[in-house]
Amino acid sequence: MAIRPIVRYGDPVLHAPAAAVETVDDSIRALLDDMLTTMYAAPGIGLAAPQIGVPLRLIVIDLSVGEDPAQVIKLVNPEVLEREGEQKHEEGCLSIPGYAGSPTRPARVTVRGLGPDGDERVYTATELLARAFCHEIDHVDGFVFVDRLSPLKRDLVRRKLRRRAREGWEE
Ligand SMILES: [Zn+2]
Repeated sequence: MAIRPIVRYGDPVLHAPAAAVETVDDSIRALLDDMLTTMYAAPGIGLAAPQIGVPLRLIVIDLSVGEDPAQVIKLVNPEVLEREGEQKHEEGCLSIPGYAGSPTRPARVTVRGLGPDGDERVYTATELLARAFCHEIDHVDGFVFVDRLSPLKRDLVRRKLRRRAREGWEE
């Protein structure tokens, strides 16, 4: 398991849809492990493969950030089956350090994907877990939370981020 560099806003891999995984094999399982290690090191509660520069539909989520193995979610080809209601809370993103925003998300989602064993997994989530699923599935669709803000805020933040991306993200 290795910590991979996290790519930042402005990198094309974050702004294009990722490809579906055809076979859940050892290389995919190794990638999911690297994603989890990278996420814990950041630290964060969710990470999608495009964030480590890999254009595949893979996400990991752990609201306990390594404290509770039962909360680890590794999902291949995740998709939102159902969404219901609305919620709005502040989100950040490991690929957009120093920025936060409050996109509108569904209050409740049903998500389907494949686990590391290749078997189907279905999750129903509310509150923070629903937001995390939507945030990470957005990443594999080529969207970041900024794209989900109101038009006025979105344009303001995008202008700042483009400048940041041009000048380099080095802190
Ligand atoms: Zn993110």
